[in-house]
Amino acid sequence: MLDLTYEAPAPKVIAGAQGDWELVIGLEVHAQVATRAKLFSGASTEFGAEPNSNVSFIDAGMPGMLPVINEGCVAQAVRTGLGLKAEINLRSAFDRKNYFYPDLPQGYQISQLYHPIVGEGEVIVEMGAGVARKVRIERIHLEQDAGKSIHDMDPNMSFVDLNRTGVALMEIVSRPDIRGPEEAAAYVGKLRQILRYLGTCDGNMQNGNLRADVNVSVCRPGDYEKYQETQDFDHLGTRCEIKNMNSMRFIQAAIDFEARRQIAILEDGGEVVQETRLYDPDKNETRSMRSKEEAHDYRYFPDPDLLPLEIEQSWVDDIAAHLPELPDAKKARFMADMGLSDYDAGVLTAELANAVYFEAVVNHLDSAKDGKLAANWVINELFGRLKKDDLGIEASPVSPGQLGDIVALIAKGDISGKIAKDLFEIVYTEGGEPAKIVEERGMKQVTDTGAIEAAVDEIIAQNPAQVEKAKQNPKLAGWFVGQVMKSTGGKANPAAVNQIVTQKLGL
Ligand code: ADP
Ligand code: MG
Repeated sequence: MLDLTYEAPAPKVIAGAQGDWELVIGLEVHAQVATRAKLFSGASTEFGAEPNSNVSFIDAGMPGMLPVINEGCVAQAVRTGLGLKAEINLRSAFDRKNYFYPDLPQGYQISQLYHPIVGEGEVIVEMGAGVARKVRIERIHLEQDAGKSIHDMDPNMSFVDLNRTGVALMEIVSRPDIRGPEEAAAYVGKLRQILRYLGTCDGNMQNGNLRADVNVSVCRPGDYEKYQETQDFDHLGTRCEIKNMNSMRFIQAAIDFEARRQIAILEDGGEVVQETRLYDPDKNETRSMRSKEEAHDYRYFPDPDLLPLEIEQSWVDDIAAHLPELPDAKKARFMADMGLSDYDAGVLTAELANAVYFEAVVNHLDSAKDGKLAANWVINELFGRLKKDDLGIEASPVSPGQLGDIVALIAKGDISGKIAKDLFEIVYTEGGEPAKIVEERGMKQVTDTGAIEAAVDEIIAQNPAQVEKAKQNPKLAGWFVGQVMKSTGGKANPAAVNQIVTQKLGL
């Protein structure tokens, strides 16, 4: 496992006119469950389909329709819970949350208020090399998503698209353990990474696949510590909830704005009203949307159409036994087995596809000890080149096998690092087998000392004045090395050239 030091919470402090204030943040993340069908109907969850084409009679709220639970969604919620080291509740139940909105034809959302499927867990958020913070998860429940109302397509009409109606969401509720905007973004990033590794949510924030309701309050220094002792919310300030955030950058900006707004109210002798607010990125401000509803406003009650959900421990155990390796474990393994730095291992494990590619490169090498060299090539050359062409790793013109071959040629001393860059470019643009290209185009590094000696002798003979200078100033030996490299077309082994030049100049 990763060798981590757990930091005490380091709250963001904002100085007010009457002293310091600290931030307290808790997140409710809605993650769309990666499944082909909806939570209680067989309609497709495909994104971008023709409006209202993925709608079953259940999603449309037709009379007499009965919901049937999708086992795949339940398995995904359990998998997510296990990935977040959370308690799995073998018995959970669905409740109706009643409210009217045109994009909710049933007139209620089926959710899990009283008995969620997943209980307490945690997310470990790294805030620097080896330094981490634990954010506790309070619960994860399954619920239906609503459809989409479209108000800006026509000046006189609103439209509704029910494709998203009934799609399964996991609501992942954190404790108010987050103490600043950067930490909030890092938490969402880590959660997203874990979900993507687990394959339980695509985490495409732009498509609204993962969105966060951000709860923000402010308190005086010391109050949070009192809350930690007692877990009694009395020591914390009144919170506001900023709805539906789907960008890391906006999450941070919204928290910052909201905290300052609350501080201004409190320092003015006012009271923060608990309410739901919306963030406007154009104006960089939050605006009141509605006053906070309480659970009883929704007249929650157990859904009579659905029996309590009972799952077997053996089924949970089976899912646990097949969990993939998660980001922290993978990162730790890359560091321990291949000697990668914290930074390199972090870059290579940020996205599962990158880690898979990198491991395939390493598997192509004779020994994992060249993993560091492979990491450099993947991070600097490959990622850099792909970025230039705006390509993802899946579309890389160089396969892991080809890159592995290039790295192996460097490791064996067959080609120099400089020639390897040319070779990489050839493979990237033309394709082909690296070893063959090296043979055919005479790119092999010259390690034959006889040939190098001849080249060095020639340069020395042609430049007597430089030789004299170098004898006074040994640093000028570098000039000779450069000349020899040039005359051999970059193919001479630089270490050998260096040694022979030093020796021949008598330095
Ligand atoms: P609701 O369902 O009414 O929104 P919850 O009890 O589920 O309320 O909590 C919602 C979120 O608010 C949780 O993520 C929790 O961590 C967070 N939260 C609770 N108290 C505070 C507070 N004082 N400041 C910031 N966040 C808070
Ligand atoms: Mg809420």
